[in-house]
Amino acid sequence: MKKVAVYTSGGDAPGMNACIRAVVRGAIYHGAEIFGIRYGYSGMIKGDIKPLNSYSVSNIIQKGGTILKSARSDDFKTKEGRKKAFNCLQEHEIEGLICIGGDGSFTGAKIFHEEYGVAIVGAPGTIDNDIYGTDFTIGFDTAVNTAIQAIDKIRDTADSHDRIFFIEVMGRDSGYIAIRSGICGGAEMVLVPETATSIEDVIETLKAGRSRSKTSSIIVVAEGDEIGGAIEIAARAQESLVDVDIRVATLGHIQRGGAPSAKDRILASRMGLSAIEGLLNGRKDVMAGVMKDELVYTPFEHAITIKKSLSPDLLRMVDIFNS
Ligand code: ADP
Repeated sequence: MKKVAVYTSGGDAPGMNACIRAVVRGAIYHGAEIFGIRYGYSGMIKGDIKPLNSYSVSNIIQKGGTILKSARSDDFKTKEGRKKAFNCLQEHEIEGLICIGGDGSFTGAKIFHEEYGVAIVGAPGTIDNDIYGTDFTIGFDTAVNTAIQAIDKIRDTADSHDRIFFIEVMGRDSGYIAIRSGICGGAEMVLVPETATSIEDVIETLKAGRSRSKTSSIIVVAEGDEIGGAIEIAARAQESLVDVDIRVATLGHIQRGGAPSAKDRILASRMGLSAIEGLLNGRKDVMAGVMKDELVYTPFEHAITIKKSLSPDLLRMVDIFNS
């Protein structure tokens, strides 16, 4: 395989640039020609494809975002869109792809591989950490650290005013960011989509805290929690706790940005190099990951469909520390 391309797709994550750099430098080291596709599948369809060299990825390991840009593409979900994308790859004689993205991007990659036989290897870039086949995804550690910094600051003001704060963090389907940032921020409760907690439980926990003379509290809520988002849960809690000042802070996209942590730079570099070496050695339809500190490859099929569970000891810990 002499010509390959790399793209970033779906939600961006800190460390994607470190991963691009590893892919590009690894490809050049092994004598392959490497192209960058801008704006993910959207750019693949439009032919937004440029050659990259070693200097194209200088001075980016420390930068958040993605120099290749990212996008969501509804066209790629159609057969016509994927046909256009395949034609563009053929024009450039590109034989293999490295996809840096989340489960949506890998679903698209798997379908594309099945239809056109294009060899694709993935590197999991998403702050949500909700992908099977790797203990951690690129961007997760940085996002948790960003959330912790915000929670620490909110705790100061919550304490000054004896307030209860519901802090919403990202995680539509998973509570990874919530549980880790909640533990690190000393949260009284963490509400995640993986476990069912009733609004009554939330109110009881807050009342119990008050009866123990706790004057301020932090509850971290994953945006996809089954009771609702932080705004809704806070409003319902306020109905029962009329004499308490309850506030909400939604951290939002701040969690997607910033310089990647040391852990994310190393993880992204390892997975990027492993992805390109796997591709050049004939792997396809798989994702590169790191499990128990070992480089592994997992079929896209499993990465997308197998649910990675939250460690039960983390959930238990929050209850014990606040009982
Ligand atoms: P992420 O990769 O972060 O999970 P998305 O779920 O938004 O992000 O997916 C990114 C892109 O992957 C989508 O915009 C679309 O172009 C492509 N994709 C997702 N699901 C499919 C699918 N079922 N078929 C084809 N392409 C898909």
